[in-house]
Amino acid sequence: MASEFDYDLVIIGAGVGGHGAAIHAVQRGLKTAIIEAGDMGGTCVNRGCIPSKALLAASGKVREMRDEQHLKAMGISLGSVGFDREGIADHAKNLVGKIQGDLTNSLIRLGVDTIRGWGKIAGTQKVSVQEGSGTRIITAKDIILSPGSIPFVPRGIETDGKTVYTSDEAIRLDWLPEWVAIIGSGYIGLEFSDVYTALGSEVTMIEAMPQLMPTFDPDIAKQAERMLIKPRDIETKVGLLAKKITPGFPVEIELADPKTMETVEVLEVDACLVATGRIPATKNLDLNMVSVETDRRGFIPVDEHLAVLRGEEPVPHLYAIGDANGKMMLAHSASAQGIVAVDNICGDSRTVDYNAIPAAAFTHPEVSFVGMTEPAAKEKGKEEGYEVASVRSYFKANSKALPEGETDGIAKLVYRKDTGEVMGAHIIGIHAADLIQEAANAIAQKQSVTELAKFVHTHPTLSEVLDEAYKLAMVTA
Ligand code: FAD
Repeated sequence: MASEFDYDLVIIGAGVGGHGAAIHAVQRGLKTAIIEAGDMGGTCVNRGCIPSKALLAASGKVREMRDEQHLKAMGISLGSVGFDREGIADHAKNLVGKIQGDLTNSLIRLGVDTIRGWGKIAGTQKVSVQEGSGTRIITAKDIILSPGSIPFVPRGIETDGKTVYTSDEAIRLDWLPEWVAIIGSGYIGLEFSDVYTALGSEVTMIEAMPQLMPTFDPDIAKQAERMLIKPRDIETKVGLLAKKITPGFPVEIELADPKTMETVEVLEVDACLVATGRIPATKNLDLNMVSVETDRRGFIPVDEHLAVLRGEEPVPHLYAIGDANGKMMLAHSASAQGIVAVDNICGDSRTVDYNAIPAAAFTHPEVSFVGMTEPAAKEKGKEEGYEVASVRSYFKANSKALPEGETDGIAKLVYRKDTGEVMGAHIIGIHAADLIQEAANAIAQKQSVTELAKFVHTHPTLSEVLDEAYKLAMVTA
């Protein structure tokens, strides 16, 4: 490729987005460099997916082994089950170290140059890297911005990283508070409530919206409240905004009516996890060098090919992927976008179908979804002139869930009544995060419930929960 540039492609940010883009770029023959100022692997590897799933795996085992009734039903009895907080924290820490090492080595093996330092746009097809006290200018035919995101801490909330903290500190499990407030009932809040309650902490979950888990399909949110909140040591405060939080012993939380902003209650707890979402890490990238402005929240505007937009027009040779563009703030979405951006750079016109990208909360049991919620699908159907229907199938009749003694859960399928095309799938139950992939593939391929009902599923497996849903939908379609 062109030799007038130092590289064919330079990527700013070595999170999963940047890493996915770099690997694909090498496979496509591009001379590639990746610039990283912090921890190789970014949020997912160091402060997100990986350590949180390690905490969930270990604490989930504690929960399971302490569930005497569940074990007794299978003829198992255990003495008392103990755990070592530090050991669980180390399990997460060691896993981070291993995956970070694997990721770093994979870049070396593939011949990607890793440049450590803060990257910025220095002009068209130019980046600068702050390395120690010096600055180096690198030219590249194409540039991908993948700077990711950081936790959002609303105004009025003061964090000290010890008693009031975000997920960045929570994943270290430095201590186990007896009583912890969690602000936000999104997937991060929900996952940490799973960890804390399994390890014996009492949780107060605070949600400013009128209902818990506002982004879930309403039926699944109801089930999640029944299965993940009500039976556990979790008190909920819904429709209340954490107006002011002061760290210390105790932590003081002022709760206000979101409309009037008047304080209605003051809580005193041992610790507080602020899980109120994430914001793009796009400050200090010098986007002004190419006359690009982020949106109000800081997201980099992109078109469907992931090209950065200047007003309405794509900026040549500049792309932005992952959490920083706000399209879908998930690890697999970031790496998928990285691959698509590289393909576009190589001249293949490609876009990402966000509707077919699944998401999951790795609670016990898991919650997963892909595509539209039923209300959103019905709204779309109304606009476009077709009817939308839904069916539910249950884990309680499933021959794999029954022997496991894990029969609580449902799968809900949302589909077009006229064509049978699947519009959304929502699952809560054991291994829901693995199960959703089948529905995601069906949505990506625009398959109908009638087609899907003809595929043969292995017996006895949890996948038969979806099989049953397709068959039910076919009958009623
Ligand atoms: P990041 O991973 O944030 O990486 C960006 C990188 O760029 C960082 O390393 C940063 O240091 C670097 N950088 C930024 N600016 C510069 C600069 N100017 N110069 C040089 N380097 C720079 N997603 C899932 O799909 N599944 C999950 O189970 C899941 N669990 C999560 C749990 C938690 C607690 C959290 C917080 C997140 C979780 N996520 C999960 C979300 C996931 O981590 C993110 O969507 C993903 O990491 C985004 O990848 P990215 O490459 O866009 O950005």
